[in-house]
Amino acid sequence: MYRPPTRRTDLCDELDTSPANLARQLASLAAAGIVNQSVEAPTRRPHGARGRPPVFVSLIPDAAHALGIEIGTRTLRAVVCDLRGEIVASHSVPWFPVDPNMTIGRSHELVEHVIVDAGIALDGVIGVGVTAAHAFTAHLTATGALAAWSAFEPATELGARLGVPVSVEDSAIAGGVAEHRMGAGLGRADLMYVSLSAGCAIGFILSGRPHRGATGHAGAVAHAAMTAGRQPCYCGRYGCLETVASPEAVAGLLGKLSGRPVTPALLFELLRAGDRRARRLLAEVGGLIGEALAPAVSLFNPGLCIIGGELSLAGEPLVVAIRDGIERGVRPEIAARLSVVQSRRGREAEVVGAAITQLARAPELLARRAEVVPGSEWDAEH
Ligand SMILES: [Zn+2]
Repeated sequence: MYRPPTRRTDLCDELDTSPANLARQLASLAAAGIVNQSVEAPTRRPHGARGRPPVFVSLIPDAAHALGIEIGTRTLRAVVCDLRGEIVASHSVPWFPVDPNMTIGRSHELVEHVIVDAGIALDGVIGVGVTAAHAFTAHLTATGALAAWSAFEPATELGARLGVPVSVEDSAIAGGVAEHRMGAGLGRADLMYVSLSAGCAIGFILSGRPHRGATGHAGAVAHAAMTAGRQPCYCGRYGCLETVASPEAVAGLLGKLSGRPVTPALLFELLRAGDRRARRLLAEVGGLIGEALAPAVSLFNPGLCIIGGELSLAGEPLVVAIRDGIERGVRPEIAARLSVVQSRRGREAEVVGAAITQLARAPELLARRAEVVPGSEWDAEH
């Protein structure tokens, strides 16, 4: 993963190699446009420093790119990320993914659009990470309007079209990865990321790694975690977390209370305007979500719970209510060491996380590229 410029002498120690050997390898990488080597500016040197100035080595962020595609229930989005995981181009279209083939076709078009925006070519792309809610990723049972996804392999289909590696990542895991690498969970070993969009789920990062479980269903709590709200669910049961944990669900509840249709967009508008009924409902829903999450918090005892997904855009009032709900359901010792925070990467967390999973393949691809470029004589001058 990308990191700030590092002294070449420190790299020698870290890699347990000789300065000459490292210089030779770095020269090849520099010639291939992968690393940058710069001498510390004289003005930055401590007064009176002697000897050769140190050389700093850094990866060139745009030496390669990874793509993320988010198949949402209202939007299809593609982003290009550089080696730091920063978005350099993004494009989205309104979309409802009923038909898998049409969705993959449209994703292909979006990829072609977004790489032109980023000024790159497909052969410079490490891979594509696709993220989607639990409800319609491969190998998971999709139902209702999304039933056609059950036997569909989005990674295979899109990979065949693009000619680059494609992987599918659950949206909650993807969000957890992004927050762990470059968001609210930076430096934390154990965390849970809660995706509150259509198809809510928990993404666990345990000992620094995503925990998917034996069948990829770890954290699939939409119809397993129960709330005391007892709202009827389309799965036939009552009180499933999904009945309260998305903008659509909360907008639907507000519609029932106010006797007029409320869309998710109107819900957020009312919350921003300080509508008392909307705020009260959000606090109540947040408490129910927190209570439903409490068993998972008790089981894994993470130090950090990150609230992400579309509903998290409701901000601090929701986060506070969820925190209170969790505290009611766990031991005081667990609650005392648990931080509940809003996703720092916001709406982009999950699509960036999908791209980041592909960035793990960057060293292999970059090393292959460097092998075919002869080393430069850069080191001879420094
Ligand atoms: Zn249900």
